[in-house]
Amino acid sequence: MKWDAQYDVIVLGFGGAGATAARFAADKGAHVLLVDAAPAGAEGGNTRYAKQQIATGQNQTELMTYFSQLAGSYSIPVKMLQKYVSKLVTMPEYLKRYLDIDITGSDQDRVHGDFADYPEFDGHEILTGISIQQQPQDSTLWQLLRAKVLERSQQIDIWLNSRAQKLVYNPATKLVEGVAIVHQNQLEHVSARHGVVLATGGFQANPQMVQDFLHLSALKPLGTQFDRGDGIRLAEGVGARLWHMSTYEAGNVLGGLTIAANTDQQLAILTDTALLNHGATCVVAEDGTRFFDEAQPTRHGYLYQHGNWVMPQRVNRAYLIFDRPQYDAFKQQGHLSSDPSYLIRAETLPELAEKIQVSAANLKQTVQDFNHFAETGRDYTTGRDTQTMWAFDVGPGGFFAIQLTNDIVTTQGGPQRNEHCQVINVNNQPIGHLFSAGTLGSMIVNRYQTGTNLAECLISGKIAGENAATASDLVAASENKAQ
Ligand SMILES: Cc1cc2nc3c(=O)[nH]c(=O)nc-3n(C[C@H](O)[C@H](O)[C@H](O)COP(=O)(O)OP(=O)(O)OC[C@H]3O[C@@H](n4cnc5c(N)ncnc54)[C@H](O)[C@@H]3O)c2cc1C
Repeated sequence: MKWDAQYDVIVLGFGGAGATAARFAADKGAHVLLVDAAPAGAEGGNTRYAKQQIATGQNQTELMTYFSQLAGSYSIPVKMLQKYVSKLVTMPEYLKRYLDIDITGSDQDRVHGDFADYPEFDGHEILTGISIQQQPQDSTLWQLLRAKVLERSQQIDIWLNSRAQKLVYNPATKLVEGVAIVHQNQLEHVSARHGVVLATGGFQANPQMVQDFLHLSALKPLGTQFDRGDGIRLAEGVGARLWHMSTYEAGNVLGGLTIAANTDQQLAILTDTALLNHGATCVVAEDGTRFFDEAQPTRHGYLYQHGNWVMPQRVNRAYLIFDRPQYDAFKQQGHLSSDPSYLIRAETLPELAEKIQVSAANLKQTVQDFNHFAETGRDYTTGRDTQTMWAFDVGPGGFFAIQLTNDIVTTQGGPQRNEHCQVINVNNQPIGHLFSAGTLGSMIVNRYQTGTNLAECLISGKIAGENAATASDLVAASENKAQ
C-alpha cells in the first residue's frame, strides 16, 4: 500500500465520542488524525444537538440493578456493564478533571435528582443527571470537547468535509492498518500505525438502513443529517459482528411523533403538553383511527403496553386532530400565530377526512367515540385518562389537522465492542487495531435512560482513544494470552 499520509491513530467522527477519543489518544503521545464527513460548522454530530444531560449515580451495585432492569429480558455483557457503571459513578470527577466542569461548587444547580426515566425500577433513586447546557441546546458540551481537541493542535490534525470510505485491512498482519478517505475530493489512503477508532454515530439519517434494520419506511431525525451509518459499513468490510441494530430512541413527546413539515414552530406546539394532549385533540393513523394513549408520557418513544415499556410499531401517516376551541387555545399561546402552512382546516369532518385522505366513516366514528368516552369517563380505545379529554365541538367552528411523522433521536446499533472498546469480529475475536466509541454499537440493548448516551461517549471515547494509542501492546497481550 502506498500511503498518502501517516498517523499513529485515526479517529473517524468528530462528535462527542470522537473528540474524546482523539484527545485521550493525543495525551498518550499519539499523532492523531480526526476526520468528519460534515463540512465546517456542521461537524459535531448529534452531540451538537444534544440537551446535554449526562447520567451519573452514587452506587455501583444499585446502578447495575437499574441498568439490568432497563435491559429487561435482553442481556448486556456483564464485564461491559460493570466497566460502564464503574465509570458512571466517577462522572463528576471526570467532568471536573477533564472538562473543567465542577458540579460540587457554584454549579450545583446543574445536578438533578429524580432523574430516572423508570422510577418503578429498583435502584432508580441512585440515578442523578448533570445538565451541562447554560441555555437550551447551546451545545456547551460539544464546545468544551472541541476546545480540548483544538488545544492539542500540535498533535491532532482535523479533516472536515472528509468522508471515510473503507478500512484498509491487512490479512497477513490481521490488523486494520489505515483508512481510505475522500479528502478535498481526492481519495487518500492514510495509515494508522496504532489504531483506528470508529465514532461515526448512528444510522438514523440513512433511510435504507432505517428500512433494513428498524423495519420502518420514514423517520425524521431530530439531530444531524450526517449520521448515515458509515461506521457500520466500514466495520462490516473487515468482518465485524453487529449488535443492537433494532434499538433506537425517539423524541420525548406525543409517542415519538413530530410535525412532518419542516418548521421552527414544531417544537413550540409539540412541547406544550398541557394543550397538546389535554382537550378535544387526538392522533389518528392513516385509516382515521386512534392508535395510542396520547396523554401517556412517552419515555424516548417507548410506550407502556401490557406491563412493559416497548417501542411500538410505527404508523406510516399520522394526524393531530383538534377542534375550534383547541385551535383558539393553541393560537392564544402563540403556537399558531402566523398562518402556518402545515395547518389543514375544514368546515366538516368528511371534508377534513378528504383533505387528509383518511376514511371519512372511520374519522366520524373516532370523534364520536372520543366524545362518548369523554362524557362517560372511560376510553375503551386506548385507556387514556378521560380527565384529559374534552368532547369535540361539532358546531360550526370547523376542524383542524396537522400531519405528524415518526421522529428519531438516535440508533444504538453497530459493530459489537468489548469493555476495552475493541471491535469484535464474527468469530467473537477482537479485530486488530480497530476500536469504537459512542453511539455506534452502543451497549444500550433495550430501553433508554436519559443521559446515558453522552456518558457512554465520554467513557468509551477515553477508553478507545487510550487503547488505540497503545494498540500494539494490546494486540501483543491478546496474542500471548491466546498461546
Ligand atoms: C435533540 C437531541 C437531544 C439529545 N439529548 C441528549 C442528552 O441530553 N443526553 C444524552 O446522553 N444524549 C442525548 N442525545 C443523544 C446524544 O446526543 C448522541 O447519542 C451522542 O451525542 C452521539 O455521540 P457520538 O459521538 O457517538 O456521535 P455523533 O455526535 O453523532 O458524531 C458522529 C460524527 O461522525 C461523523 N461521520 C459520520 N460518518 C462519517 C464518515 N464516513 N467519515 C467521517 N465522519 C463521519 C458525523 O458527521 C458526526 O459528526 C440527544 C440527541 C438529540 C438528537
